[in-house]
Amino acid sequence: MLATIASATLLGVEGRGVWVEVHVAKTGLPRFVMVGLPDAACRESRDRIRAAVINAGLRFSGSEVVTVNLAPSGLRKSGSALDLPIAVAYLVASGQLKASAVESVGLLGELGLDGTVRGVRGALPLVEATQAMRVVVPAENAAEAQLSNREVLVGTNLADVVSALSGDRFWPDPPDLVVSPVAPGPDLSEVRGHRLARKALEVAAGGGHHLLMLGPPGSGKTMLAQRSVGLLPPLDDVRGAEVIRVHSAAGSLFGLGAADSGPAGVGPLRCDAAGELVVTAPFRAPHHTATVVSLVGGGSSQMRPGEVSLAHGGVLFLDELAEFPAHALDALRQPLEDGSIRVSRAHASVSFPARCLLIAAMNPCPCGAGTPERCRCSEPALRRYARRISGPLLDRFDLRVRVEAMAPEDLVDAPPGETSAAVAERVAQARGAARRRGVSANRELSLAELEDHTRLTPEARAVLDSALRSGRLSGRGMARVRAVALTLRDLDGADGTLDAPTMQVALGLRAEVGVALAAVA
Ligand SMILES: [Zn+2]
Repeated sequence: MLATIASATLLGVEGRGVWVEVHVAKTGLPRFVMVGLPDAACRESRDRIRAAVINAGLRFSGSEVVTVNLAPSGLRKSGSALDLPIAVAYLVASGQLKASAVESVGLLGELGLDGTVRGVRGALPLVEATQAMRVVVPAENAAEAQLSNREVLVGTNLADVVSALSGDRFWPDPPDLVVSPVAPGPDLSEVRGHRLARKALEVAAGGGHHLLMLGPPGSGKTMLAQRSVGLLPPLDDVRGAEVIRVHSAAGSLFGLGAADSGPAGVGPLRCDAAGELVVTAPFRAPHHTATVVSLVGGGSSQMRPGEVSLAHGGVLFLDELAEFPAHALDALRQPLEDGSIRVSRAHASVSFPARCLLIAAMNPCPCGAGTPERCRCSEPALRRYARRISGPLLDRFDLRVRVEAMAPEDLVDAPPGETSAAVAERVAQARGAARRRGVSANRELSLAELEDHTRLTPEARAVLDSALRSGRLSGRGMARVRAVALTLRDLDGADGTLDAPTMQVALGLRAEVGVALAAVA
């Protein structure tokens, strides 16, 4: 007998509808065959299903020919979310459950050997891709599944799912959707002094320009970086939905697998004062011991997004940049450039969104003294340190500023800085100007578009030419300074004519990065 059930599989952060077909024949050589491009985790489901069915008090005869077909056959099926639909389809095909019980019901979930229905990553995109109006999901995923427009049925274990499908018992109530309210983040007004670094932060947010801060330990780099995300404009619906899908695919939206979603694994979903759901821009700060896979995404079985994707729509903060392994930083270059990352393994290749603002911080040298006079580092040690940050990576930072430790008396005397809200208004204005140029931030403008949208006064051109002649700027660097200058104009609400003073400020935000890094700047 043949049974067909709707389900889905995860491809990157997108769900793809899958039809699970199970055929059971009583005659022939007993076996359990699965076809339709299942991956390793998916193939192993045979053993989980057999144990789960038996432990649920149902029958799994070893003498049948069971054929499982996962359609469409050309689509690779990954992970364990197909366990539950395969098990239920088997029960229908083997005559233990009426076919009418599964009509217009989709199912998703991993099975434990004891029949428990376990949560899966990507529940929201999976539910949305399932071609059924009612979908049975694991209890762990029920909150997240309610963000879809489907009727959510909660499955806790196989035996209960089977009795509820047969109408012998009620489905458990789905849990209430509990989302923390939007909390005000740390405010820029708490940062005293640091005029240049504050400016750099504003330009970074306004133009999407990646920022590198150099300064000794305790100079306030982390404090500044943490305030960057509060300057970004609210996410629009499209970007917000992308952010939600990424966090769902990582299992971090409602804490599933929170242990492996990184130290800053807090979901981006919040509710506002009116109780409406809002998606906040994420701030991710992976430690320098993070693996390449956890930074850029991948994994041996089911591919999951990395930190650069979890920061999509928000900020990726890399503290102690020079301590990250060189190959990890190299792997970040392409996604930072393209706004997405393609992760390939022998059997498959998926793409994750990765449009984030990169803010990095590092000590100017290994001893962290900050100034050449106080530095105790040897010449070779400085050279080794400088080599950690490759030229091409350094090139991704349009903004490079030094953050000096402030004297205690300066901290006390300095007036409180401008609030995040005041700066965010200018940032929103600059982003609006960028949108009118057809990009979401000025950093994305090509050289030709920059030429189109900026006019240089003769004095401004002279400033650039002199920086070029003195070797301070490369040709590429010149274009980047121009983009930063345009952002400065946008933040001021001025037109795109770049004058000499603006150009000087832009150049000042691309400082030669001091003691050790001058050699590679
Ligand atoms: Zn030093």
